[in-house]
Amino acid sequence: MENEVVSKNFIEQIIDKDLEEGCYTQVKTRFPPEPNGYLHIGHAKSILLNYGLAQKYGGKFNLRFDDTNPTKEKSEFVESIIADVEWLGAKYDGEVLFASNYFEQMYDAAVKLIKKGKAFVCDLTAEEIREYRGTLTEPGKNSPYRDRSVEENLDLFERMKNGEFEDGSKVLRAKIDMSSPNINMRDPVIYRVARMSHHNTGDQWCIYPMYDFAHPIEDAIEGITHSICTLEFEDHRPLYDWVVRELEYEQPPKQIEFAKLYLQNVITGKRYIKKLVEDGIVDGWDDPRLVSIAALRRRGFTPESIKMFMELVGVSKSQSSVDYAMLEYCIREDLKLKRGRMMAVLDPVKLIIDNYPENLVEYMDVVNNQENEALGARKVPFCRELYIERDDFMEEPPKKYFRLYPGNEVRLMNGYFVTCTSYEKDENGRVTEIHCTYDPETRSGSGFNGRKVKGTIHWVAAPYAIKAEVRLYENLVDEEKGVYNKEDGSLNLNPNSLTILKECYLEPNLSDVKGGDSFQFVRQGYFCVDSKDSTPEHPVFNRIVSLKSSYKPGK
Ligand code: ATP
Ligand code: MG
Repeated sequence: MENEVVSKNFIEQIIDKDLEEGCYTQVKTRFPPEPNGYLHIGHAKSILLNYGLAQKYGGKFNLRFDDTNPTKEKSEFVESIIADVEWLGAKYDGEVLFASNYFEQMYDAAVKLIKKGKAFVCDLTAEEIREYRGTLTEPGKNSPYRDRSVEENLDLFERMKNGEFEDGSKVLRAKIDMSSPNINMRDPVIYRVARMSHHNTGDQWCIYPMYDFAHPIEDAIEGITHSICTLEFEDHRPLYDWVVRELEYEQPPKQIEFAKLYLQNVITGKRYIKKLVEDGIVDGWDDPRLVSIAALRRRGFTPESIKMFMELVGVSKSQSSVDYAMLEYCIREDLKLKRGRMMAVLDPVKLIIDNYPENLVEYMDVVNNQENEALGARKVPFCRELYIERDDFMEEPPKKYFRLYPGNEVRLMNGYFVTCTSYEKDENGRVTEIHCTYDPETRSGSGFNGRKVKGTIHWVAAPYAIKAEVRLYENLVDEEKGVYNKEDGSLNLNPNSLTILKECYLEPNLSDVKGGDSFQFVRQGYFCVDSKDSTPEHPVFNRIVSLKSSYKPGK
């Protein structure tokens, strides 16, 4: 047994205390997305945090759409969000839930507040409400409608619901304190009149509750114990507490805030991503250069790698930005022992072994993953004409170049030792083929006849190779200049974020791949079959990550 001390994060400490003191007997969390876009890596943090806590404490986790604001919401987003949550492995309790299914209860809750003298219908315009609200340094003023009688308020609110008033002409406000130092507590609006079709309730309602009023009710209805959200809601917590207190819920939920996840040199803002999609700079919301969950999945990240990343990042209350290299470290770690290590030549040049018999093919035994025997072995054909990487050959090598050059001997991984004898160039000076001879005594697995060479390169047998397209990615933004242009807020795009290699050659064992399959290509990195564009006739691979890393996990 390892004797490791696992320190708990601040949320776990709060939960421990709540359970100890008997505030709650069970833990229930939720992920409450607004269906107004695709989820990104920041949301993954929230999902895994909420689900992880429910799991850890033997509790429950709900997936609830916070769909109380119909203008920006679409069913398309509902579908994609469910798929993302499931892909991450977060198992929600029962059915998917919708806040809009609680509109009736929210209406009743508002009536209850009116009856307690805690809410009133206000006729001020939006502009006037703003003026009356005061500022951070000055208290607000009471609305002239604040002292309407309970009866009048009940009547007006019902008529708001029945559609008797124009959009924006009346609102329902909580009656709290116009001189509160917290502006959120200065008689906040809790219901507005708005004729908008809702993706779930259609035209049934023409009044809609505001987020700060609706959210605590949703939590309370579902018996959520710990309502975890991000720091921008910290100042709203007194209002959250006020709502659950005034509505007298038996077991009021508790709001806890944590810092959002930010990744360096990565675009997460929905607004910016939308613009990149609309301007055709990226290939949709799942372009592998983005960090939407759909994009990460398409690029070849695994749920396990994202979980590992979130564990490394941890949970805290202070804002910080995480190095993208840490996410890359996690996917490398995750795939290292799980995936076969295949041979693929991305920038090919022909290598001809002049002393190898013309019609001979040898099937070499190759272990799939030297660090994990369980992945077995495969056979890879070897013959007279091969492809190797263009940069594994140099006409005039610098010092310490141990790969192929005239007169030098290298080992062909899983093959034989070969010595370069000559090469040919076209009229532009580009090398077209390289000639060599092999030493039959150095077959892979034979012990190389006791000989050693400094360089080892990979290859594929030309007549058996599978032609494929490979896409290499860099950050979408220019790391040197920073994500946003200081002058006009525009994005500093990296012109090299996508490189398409149209003529790559893969070993024939990669003939039967399907979207989402991933592999290591030796000496190159990890690659994933593109789930959108790859076909059996035209395979397309995305580079998930190269093998080299600039990130080292914490000391
Ligand atoms: P965005 O700011 O990208 O538009 P949002 O906060 O508006 O995101 P919601 O659908 O309202 O998106 O968020 C659902 C949940 O995800 C909320 O609880 C929110 O606090 C959380 N969340 C959003 N962004 C992050 C992030 N970067 N890190 C951690 N949690 C996040
Ligand atoms: Mg939001």
